[in-house]
Amino acid sequence: SPKATAQIGVTGLAVMGSNLARNFARHGHTVALHNRTYAKTEALVGEHGHEGDFVPAESAEDFVAALQKPRRIVIMVKAGDPTDAVIDEFAALLEPGDVIIDGGNAHFADTRRREKALREKGIHFVGAGISGGEEGALNGPAIMPGGSEESYKALGPLLESIAAKAEDGNPCCVHVGPDGAGHFVKMVHNGIEYADMQLIAEAYDLLRNVAGFAPARIAETFRGWNAGRLDSYLIEITAEVLAHTDAATGRPFVDVVADEAEQKGTGRWTVQTALDLGTPVSGIAEAVFARSVSGHRDLREAARELPGPRRAALPDDEAAAFAARVEEALYASKVVSYAQGWNMISAASAEYGWDIDLGAMAAIWRGGCIIRAAFLDRIRSAFAADPALPTLLADKGFAEEVGRAQDAWRSVVTTAVAHGVPTPGFSAALAYYDALRAERLPAALTQGQRDFFGAHTYRRADREGSFHTRWSGER
Ligand code: NAP
Repeated sequence: SPKATAQIGVTGLAVMGSNLARNFARHGHTVALHNRTYAKTEALVGEHGHEGDFVPAESAEDFVAALQKPRRIVIMVKAGDPTDAVIDEFAALLEPGDVIIDGGNAHFADTRRREKALREKGIHFVGAGISGGEEGALNGPAIMPGGSEESYKALGPLLESIAAKAEDGNPCCVHVGPDGAGHFVKMVHNGIEYADMQLIAEAYDLLRNVAGFAPARIAETFRGWNAGRLDSYLIEITAEVLAHTDAATGRPFVDVVADEAEQKGTGRWTVQTALDLGTPVSGIAEAVFARSVSGHRDLREAARELPGPRRAALPDDEAAAFAARVEEALYASKVVSYAQGWNMISAASAEYGWDIDLGAMAAIWRGGCIIRAAFLDRIRSAFAADPALPTLLADKGFAEEVGRAQDAWRSVVTTAVAHGVPTPGFSAALAYYDALRAERLPAALTQGQRDFFGAHTYRRADREGSFHTRWSGER
């Protein structure tokens, strides 16, 4: 049996696990390695053994024996049942005080269940959201660990050493909160990513079909935007994708790709969870639905002959000004979707007693993850100025910017409607903005209807209490 020399162990050595293990080793940690199929462990050591200090183990027992106490095991296997199977296998070999980290994309409810079961055995279970894909795992991801305070003491320095660093040098890793908090915020991160991608897609569609720009010119436009307040990883890669030419046909890459967006499910989880929490995340929901609509080839074919407006693209002298308005609409819609995402985190934090530091989430998403952006530093400072900020839209800086953008935003949505270009993200964001600022909402009428048909009662604006009207048409 090997000597206990490793500070951390990684089991599950597919692409994510391998890259995380290499990242730990490159930062000077001794890393125990384990995989169900040992050949993968050998292959990793064969190819990358020179990068650091690895201890390959063929059996689970040898793997556990190679770890210093408290033992720290990162599980990077397929989410779902395989994760449960691997947790059970290792929990039987561990002692109280040891730490199991699930770095996969688990649903936070599963993480809560697993944490509770292991807590009863004295084992710390840490559901850690890890963002940034393969590249992030190797070179610095954003890490969102949940679990007990105590587990973070044993784990924090290790995780912080391999995490991405924000521009101010701080690691993109923070203890998010108890049990499922880490996987929860990772889920919302992915939801926000869906919304960002949808808004960018709508901006592209408008520049293409209303402004009449070719993909290469749109790439240039996005590059310009990336030098301003929209500076972000997603805008940067959008420009790259749009500038790319298909080698086989010489056509713009974006024109040869089938226009049916796929999804792995974290966006859907976000929306399902938001419905349960009662937090409106219309930006994320519209993004999930937009992908879903795109995939309904049958519906789209059945509707292909429906009439739309016949409008030519804008003349060149109007197109540039229109593009500038699209930037404003994109920015304002983005502020709304982040405001919604943060409200969702805040609601879950209250519901589950997580006490999440809302500003810290913005701080750790500044690097490593897919939504990394200069913008997140603004969110961080908004919460630093007012930790109880009810919505990002109430932050003075964001309120002023969105206020300045609103004429352009409305004009872009109006133009999109007139040209028959679907912009569910821009439109939903604007509707949310208008709903929040409305003096009176038609919800009063909804309450009247509910009282009429179901005697559901209503509250009055001018008096305390619960009221029911004896409607003349009441059956
Ligand atoms: P994966 O394809 O999801 O899983 C493959 C790994 O799981 C292999 O090591 C495999 O072992 C192991 N495995 C599968 N079933 C098992 C079982 N019943 N018992 C023991 N081991 C089992 O790998 P991945 O793509 O590297 O992803 C790992 C995790 O990270 C997943 O939860 C995934 O959702 C998440 N992920 C995150 C990101 C991100 O950006 N954060 C990106 C990709 C994936 P064998 O070699 O023996 O088959």
